[in-house]
Amino acid sequence: MKRRHFIQQVLTAATAVWAGAARAAAKPDWKQLLPPAAYAVLFEEDTEPPYTSPLLNEHRPGHFVCAACYQPLFDAATKYESGTGWPSFFRPLPDAVATQRDFKLLVPRTEYHCSHCGGHQGHVFDDGPAPTGLRYCNNGVALHFVPREQPLPVLRG
Ligand SMILES: [Zn+2]
Repeated sequence: MKRRHFIQQVLTAATAVWAGAARAAAKPDWKQLLPPAAYAVLFEEDTEPPYTSPLLNEHRPGHFVCAACYQPLFDAATKYESGTGWPSFFRPLPDAVATQRDFKLLVPRTEYHCSHCGGHQGHVFDDGPAPTGLRYCNNGVALHFVPREQPLPVLRG
């Protein structure tokens, strides 16, 4: 009885390792899938030049999704005009992004990235409007806009 239990545990552990390896192998090759500018921002933490994103003038209802994995990150209703030259939002969708401190400019900043694929999106600052007081300063090239009347794309990665 005990021995059977042990074997079962070993098999369970082995299956978990195998599943983990399969998942790692199935990770998409973002460099192949993304335009170079998007890849540089999402996976090399580059920053797009300000006032270059066509999304600055996007005001329709809908969702902004991660340009890599297509996870929805922001509702268009939380977008606002920050005057910074980057698409800005005061609140991400629940659990859509995760944050991390970075010290690239000596002053500590809070970097945030897509919680699904880990792709870098931008930095969050505390000079945003009500109700959160936060400004999610996002690289437009790291997002796709999906108008409300269109179905959200299927997640990838
Ligand atoms: Zn993503």
